[in-house]
Amino acid sequence: MTAQQPPRNASGIALSVHGLNKTFGQLQVLRALDLEVPAGQFIAVVGRSGCGKSTLLRLLAGLDQPTSGELLAAGQPLKDNRDTRLMFQDARLLPWKKVIDNVGLGLTGNWRERALEALAAVGLSDKADQWPATLSGGQKQRVALARALIHQPRLLLLDEPLGALDALTRIEMQQLIEKLWRQHGFTVLLVTHDVAEAVAVADRVILIEQGRIGLDLTVDVARPRSHGSFQLAELESRV
Ligand code: ADP
Ligand code: MG
Repeated sequence: MTAQQPPRNASGIALSVHGLNKTFGQLQVLRALDLEVPAGQFIAVVGRSGCGKSTLLRLLAGLDQPTSGELLAAGQPLKDNRDTRLMFQDARLLPWKKVIDNVGLGLTGNWRERALEALAAVGLSDKADQWPATLSGGQKQRVALARALIHQPRLLLLDEPLGALDALTRIEMQQLIEKLWRQHGFTVLLVTHDVAEAVAVADRVILIEQGRIGLDLTVDVARPRSHGSFQLAELESRV
């Protein structure tokens, strides 16, 4: 899988969002939102419940259409989302399909080898022939991650994938996502309600507030908590 991946930061801007509006009836959720994401960046998206985090990810995944505004992926209108994968808080595995068949879902031809590679990448080689029901919550999320990886996404959208996990499993998953990001060089947008987690894993943290980006912080990877600690405190108070 690794050989076919573009090198990190190879293609400039992964994502450009200009003047993005999204309304549901009378409710304006996103209001002239602008965002530019360099390829290979790891962004954490935070904000109060209902601020529009999932809405933004669904638009970026092509699962919903903006009311107005421009969405560009690698400079092109985001009309086909083959390079993008979205992962949710619940793994959404099909219970009547074995783990490996969940990973290969929707693929045709000879995909089993690739599915096994993807399962190996998330540390689940030994679970290929098990039923989803026999897995723990964390293992199910790993399968969901493998199901995303097999498509070699350039953009990985993670909507609170760690939210339902216990503390230890959560840290393991965080580390796994970070490792895969370093290996594969895809761009990540991770929604989390946990500011400490955001700062621990991401290059950059954006806060969605009143329908747009209210704060945009670069994280010093070497010393996350010492960097911009004033803004960090502010961020914590606004989530
Ligand atoms: P977050 O993920 O930040 O908690 P969401 O993006 O899920 O927030 O939702 C933002 C707002 O938009 C909420 O008020 C929610 O109720 C509303 N909303 C989301 N999807 C729909 C929809 N399909 N129809 C109507 N309202 C929606
Ligand atoms: Mg949400």
